[in-house]
Amino acid sequence: MEDNFKFKGRRRILASELKKKGIINNQIINSIETIPRHLFIDPGLSEQAYIDKALPIDSNQTISQPYTVAFQTQLLNPLPGEKILEIGTGSGYQTSILDFLKTDVYTIERNHNLFRLTSKLFKKLNINPVKFKYGDGYKGLTDDCPFDGIIVTAGSPYVPENLLKQLKIGGRMVVPIGKETQVMTKIIRISVKDFKKETFGDFKFVPMLDKKD
Ligand code: SAH
Repeated sequence: MEDNFKFKGRRRILASELKKKGIINNQIINSIETIPRHLFIDPGLSEQAYIDKALPIDSNQTISQPYTVAFQTQLLNPLPGEKILEIGTGSGYQTSILDFLKTDVYTIERNHNLFRLTSKLFKKLNINPVKFKYGDGYKGLTDDCPFDGIIVTAGSPYVPENLLKQLKIGGRMVVPIGKETQVMTKIIRISVKDFKKETFGDFKFVPMLDKKD
């Protein structure tokens, strides 16, 4: 399945809906208008690709709702050339938005099947994260830190400690915190020891799984 005018038209409508819902960052709106979300999901669902809702992907996971992706990205506010770590690659849609925004993206996925499928898709779509790692997001990337930004796209029951340590001073992390539902949380590292925390309402994500899960 490739791109076509029907999908392009639907993306423009989706982008204008997201503007109305409060996405004011033009580059993020451009990314929603440009990136063919239908290529990140099962072809059987492509008619639903530009409805603003989460959809199932492989291995019982989900591609987040476009509004949620745009909202998290807007909170992160990644600038071109910044080093960004994404936890939970999943379909790769959020990764491709970060790539579109010209950041240096590092991304981690713990599900091997998704890791394999999404690696292939990245090659096909010419999306080039600096690193795509099969591993545990709670650990982060000790060899590549510190990061300007960290975006967690699965619901974490608590703030992942290791990830806080991998932020630059002035770096920020956007992470949904909670078990059944999650509170969108932005944490800014203001010094070696101090962090400032703000919250932005309730969301629902698939869980960020631990070793024991
Ligand atoms: N960013 C994705 C969202 C996928 S859903 C997208 O745009 O499609 C969340 C993803 O987090 C799932 O793929 C799940 O397998 C992954 N995940 C869950 N726990 C994880 C962990 N501890 N480390 C890395 N990835 C994890």
